[in-house]
Amino acid sequence: MKTKNFSYCFFNNQFIEIEKAKISIMTNALQYGTGVFGGIRGYFNKKTHSIFIFRLTDHYQRFLKSLKILGVSIDYQLDELKKITVELTKKNQSKTDCYYRPFAYAGSNSISPNLAENNHFDFSLYMISLGDYLPTNKGIKAMISTWRRVSDNSIPARAKISGAYINSSLAKKEAIDNGYDEAIVLKENGEVSEASAANLFMVKDGVLVTTEKADDILEGITRKTIIQLAKDLKIPFEERRIDKTELYTADEVFFCGTGVQISWVYQIDKRVIGDGNRGRITGQLQDLFFKIVRGEDKKYSSFWCTEVKLKK
Ligand code: PMP
Repeated sequence: MKTKNFSYCFFNNQFIEIEKAKISIMTNALQYGTGVFGGIRGYFNKKTHSIFIFRLTDHYQRFLKSLKILGVSIDYQLDELKKITVELTKKNQSKTDCYYRPFAYAGSNSISPNLAENNHFDFSLYMISLGDYLPTNKGIKAMISTWRRVSDNSIPARAKISGAYINSSLAKKEAIDNGYDEAIVLKENGEVSEASAANLFMVKDGVLVTTEKADDILEGITRKTIIQLAKDLKIPFEERRIDKTELYTADEVFFCGTGVQISWVYQIDKRVIGDGNRGRITGQLQDLFFKIVRGEDKKYSSFWCTEVKLKK
């Protein structure tokens, strides 16, 4: 994946050059994964010469909820976080699609994983340029991972907690090592949860189905977007538990997330999904999604995207 860093980031309450944003080897978050992060995309629109940031409010709302689950705080409220993000976009004048990484972390040098001692996190934000994380114009191959998703009572998946991503790393590594593009992770009870870092949808007999919020998933912003679009497009939709073998016989399967966007699956554990091509409903949602995020859809872009005009 080719990326490029932008010059400025937000670190220690100020905008500074990214090279100067350094932390100590003793940082608590580095030792224990005591951090919470976000991932937000900005899409460059050549015509308007602006960046469209997708669902900024929703992303920071989830970010703040993740902190609440950990029982920790940061110096910034929702509006300030949004303002910092817009300000950073202006400072970096990004003329490519980009990805924002807000990060709140235990910045102290405490040797203990005790969050009661480390209950005030530092906040930072940086940007990179980012194209497709997984292919979006051709199908991908997925495997059902032998790893299980962390459960809500172990490390809550609905909070985007840094340390929890070892679970994603293991599943993704297993998939890549075995010649697949992505992993599907099951819950402890063997039902489907989600992909390593994306939510999962399938189409079965004309019905769009995704797993429930209580299925140890991260409650994705893209997932929420797709559910809304399906309702508006009158695509029959169900939010319910999914068995592993239902995936093998699904007509369509796709993953969605900020990084992944919408990426369709043509094969799971060597079983071809549908006819191996992009399905009708996937196609309908994918085409609309990419118009919306780039600010090209009158109906949705204006309320889901934050436009930041760049200098000519
Ligand atoms: N699940 C996991 C584990 C993820 O890391 C992501 C990516 N943030 C998602 C789902 C999709 O969430 P979103 O659409 O908010 O990016």
